[in-house]
Amino acid sequence: GDHGLSPKREDKQDRAIRPDTLADYRGQPAVREQMEIFIGAARAREEALDHTLVFGPPGLGKTTLANIIAHEMGANIKSTSGPVLEKAGDLAAMLTNLEEGDVLFIDEIHRLSPAIEEILYPAMEDYQLDIMVGEGPAARSIKLELPAFTLVGATTRAGLLTSPLRDRFGIVQRLEFYNVADLSHIVSRSARLMGLESEPEGAEEIARRSRGTPRIANRLLRRVRDYAQVKCDGIITKASADAALNMLKVDTQGFDHMDRRLLLALLEKFDGGPVGVDSLAAAISEERDTIEDVLEPYLIQQGYMMRTPRGRTATKLAYRHFGLPEPTSN
Ligand code: ADP
Repeated sequence: GDHGLSPKREDKQDRAIRPDTLADYRGQPAVREQMEIFIGAARAREEALDHTLVFGPPGLGKTTLANIIAHEMGANIKSTSGPVLEKAGDLAAMLTNLEEGDVLFIDEIHRLSPAIEEILYPAMEDYQLDIMVGEGPAARSIKLELPAFTLVGATTRAGLLTSPLRDRFGIVQRLEFYNVADLSHIVSRSARLMGLESEPEGAEEIARRSRGTPRIANRLLRRVRDYAQVKCDGIITKASADAALNMLKVDTQGFDHMDRRLLLALLEKFDGGPVGVDSLAAAISEERDTIEDVLEPYLIQQGYMMRTPRGRTATKLAYRHFGLPEPTSN
């Protein structure tokens, strides 16, 4: 149950359908409008774009946006992630390999170690690298000038960052779940690039059941393609999409096995809440982070559960979805 959110496996197929211009970046109108202005202005001044923090649930387009920023700035992008940068030297090597105007993309930036963060501060602020080399009495600190670069950091929740790090980003963008119209457009475009024939109603059916998430929409499109190839004429129609998604146990709201498990635990084991996220995590044997980063953002946005000061609660919509009697008073 990785929610189709594991980025590794379908990486190669994905590169072919990943948009590389702002014009092809669907949805996110506020982000697009602002980034057009900031990128346009930086280009006109022939300066590096300000450091940019992008946050939002997995699969919404953070990595894609980082690549688009580099492309639109006419710059190179070097990508890494918080957990991968273990030693000061790892980050130093990446920084010293940058060219003027380049983008350094750090995914999961909230998982940087404190020691690495310390190196990042002067690099972000003054384009200076300040590191210790050698050990014991021979140890000394060296300072290096870095080219003006743009750090693009991605994280699931802005609140996970330390405030000194967050404060050093000049631009902060929050990605929202996509509406069905935008996701339909993304599915149709992907189908076209994959050489598939698709009907608008077929693309829309996939869009409606993709948890507002382009990565899931593209993944479901591939599975519907497989189904249509084997079971019918290969065309993505409403009927072939519906049959394939039912087979995959993606329900009409786009909820999958894990979503249903979470909601049912909340309804049946905790009487609809309020219940703390740790108890909920224990009840479904899931990581707390997975609940907070992956599962509940969409369920909350869709109005099936709420986050209150006393814990998580189910809404009437959740009872209705499972055909359970709604509590009369609360
Ligand atoms: P994240 O980094 O937030 O986990 P990605 O940037 O890897 O998400 O996005 C997952 C995939 O979804 C991309 O590879 C791309 O194909 C598609 N995608 C994301 N955002 C958009 C968008 N705005 N328009 C079109 N396709 C998108």
